[in-house]
Amino acid sequence: MSDIEHLVEQATAEFSGISDAAALEQAKARYLGKSGSVTELLKGLGKLDPEERKSTGAAINSAKDRIEQALNARRDALRHAALEMQLKAEALDITLPGRGMSTGGLHPVTRTLERIEALFRSIGFDVADGPEIEDDFHNFTALNTPENHPARSMHDTFYLENAPGLLLRTHTSPIQVRYMETHKPPIRIIAPGRVYRVDSDATHSPMFHQVEGLWIDEDVSFADLKGVFTDFLRNFFEKPDLRTRFRPSFFPFTEPSAEIDMSCVFCNGNGCRVCSHTGWLEIAGSGMVHPNVLKAVGIDSEKYIGFAFGMGPDRLTMLRYGVNDLRLFFEGDLRFLSQFR
Ligand SMILES: [Zn+2]
Repeated sequence: MSDIEHLVEQATAEFSGISDAAALEQAKARYLGKSGSVTELLKGLGKLDPEERKSTGAAINSAKDRIEQALNARRDALRHAALEMQLKAEALDITLPGRGMSTGGLHPVTRTLERIEALFRSIGFDVADGPEIEDDFHNFTALNTPENHPARSMHDTFYLENAPGLLLRTHTSPIQVRYMETHKPPIRIIAPGRVYRVDSDATHSPMFHQVEGLWIDEDVSFADLKGVFTDFLRNFFEKPDLRTRFRPSFFPFTEPSAEIDMSCVFCNGNGCRVCSHTGWLEIAGSGMVHPNVLKAVGIDSEKYIGFAFGMGPDRLTMLRYGVNDLRLFFEGDLRFLSQFR
């Protein structure tokens, strides 16, 4: 093999062993640069006689072309490899599962309140509202509970430290008082809202919810109370055969007063752990509005009569969803709350 052919092979082999662009350019200079091997061969042509110069020149030029081809091929290969590496490094892993949109949801007690409101609106009740910080008159006195009345000790009340006479309402009854002060009968409202008492265990929270109902007109009877409330429970729990019973009780603002029990929604009244094997669950307090309450808000108690009831939507929510600890609703744990979304 001639020196020229040997040079081509040597250059091709050297180029293909190089994996770095800068090193490749240095190798190129050794063959094709100003004092490279091929350039030196071309410089030597002048010493040859014309005939030999022609054939040797052609051979050198052919060798130069092939070395340049080998060089370009290697340059392309290196560029391609660099691009591959870059693509690999910058690749997005589109196989990773998406995180999804986290959509909020209504709190289970809010769902219950909305359900109660919708059911009572459907039979002509308005939804009334009132302040959570109340005065003594609206929370107690107007509800036939004067100072030193034993009923006041039934409520463990939060009083405001620097505002004598103000307290966090212990029930939603003051909403009814305020409504009766500003509206004339017939009155048909429910009063939902947050109430506060000093109490905290598995079934009591210092903040909880109440919904009270009030119907005042000229001829409202205890039978109306029974009908309205029983229908409400049947619709709320979607149990058309749910039964209620009214047990005599005492509340200062109603006379007569009654506790309302409903047949257990878990065992249909047959007896189970939830209802302590009695078949009944306590669900509300109720009664005919005491004449003293009507007098306190300026309604003629000789002409008008009505019923009132009060229930705990938190307890209704526990029964509807089968939750046994009230505190879960108010701890803000998303693992619990997101189940109701
Ligand atoms: Zn039961």
